[in-house]
Amino acid sequence: MFSARLVNDPFGDPALLLEARYRREALLFDLGDIRALPPRTILKLDRIFVTHTHMDHFIGFDHLLRVCLGREKHLFLYGPPGFIGNVEGKLRAYTWNLVENYENDFRLVATELHPGRRETAEFRCREAFRPPPRRSIGDFDGTAVESDAYRVDAVFLDHRVPCLAFRLEEKRRVNVRKNVLAEMGLPGGAWINELKDAIHRNEPGESAFRVWWKGEGRGAVERVFPLGELKERITKITPGRKIVYVSDVIGSPGNAGRIVEFARDADVLFVEACFLEEDRKRAGEKYHLTARQAGRLAGLAGVKRFVLFHHSPKYRGGEGRFEEEAMGAFLEARSSG
Ligand SMILES: [Zn+2]
Repeated sequence: MFSARLVNDPFGDPALLLEARYRREALLFDLGDIRALPPRTILKLDRIFVTHTHMDHFIGFDHLLRVCLGREKHLFLYGPPGFIGNVEGKLRAYTWNLVENYENDFRLVATELHPGRRETAEFRCREAFRPPPRRSIGDFDGTAVESDAYRVDAVFLDHRVPCLAFRLEEKRRVNVRKNVLAEMGLPGGAWINELKDAIHRNEPGESAFRVWWKGEGRGAVERVFPLGELKERITKITPGRKIVYVSDVIGSPGNAGRIVEFARDADVLFVEACFLEEDRKRAGEKYHLTARQAGRLAGLAGVKRFVLFHHSPKYRGGEGRFEEEAMGAFLEARSSG
């Protein structure tokens, strides 16, 4: 249901766009430079998860604000300890004397994840983004957010500051059997997405579901079925995908253990590889991974596929070396596991 793609090339700032295929919903892991995204995609974003607030992971905030300001929009941001203060600091950099009369109220809800607890604060355009009171919103047990269709989990890693890794798990995929649709004489249309939503919401099988489409004349043609019958006949439910995002971390045994467990059996792992193994000492000093370490973690976690990103600009033009080094370690770790 979600497609995942990096916003920039592997030498650019980190930002992973997760876009729902059939509805207006999108998530972002990290908020580096996002100017490559068209405004219409930025406006689709509902939730943004920030690993840590080093500049290259958070500089996209200003562009985000620029695009969303003046819109009726409710945006949720998640980050590590200190995150609410970071958001507040960004907002305080500007003068907001004219926004209180805006027709639309752009609202930003920043949530800070701590080991064991969560705190939140809502900044509102109509209140000139004045610092709101923080509220405690209960425990953090590893799940940052859960909806009918997906869950996002987070784990704390060490980057000399607490740094979060994120995992998106789709609850299930609802696929439509087009051949059966044709046999039943039902044309496609907006009702297909409504059906998928109803299945994601676990609505009872006996509830009436309206299949409708535009007729030849005016108005809509409709047929009503029990939801369970449609689910049975025209859909095929398959397990959802697991997409994991790890950036930035030192290749310590502590981090490695947590990453391998967190990314276990993922469909795809997006993992930073700032350095090549020949610069391993430097990678350690900078609290980053080498391509070899990244590939090994992917192999130990048993992921189906991995994607490297966040290469140091000094290797520009040498993407292939990262791939090669990581793939060697991946295959080695997989065969030894
Ligand atoms: Zn960093």
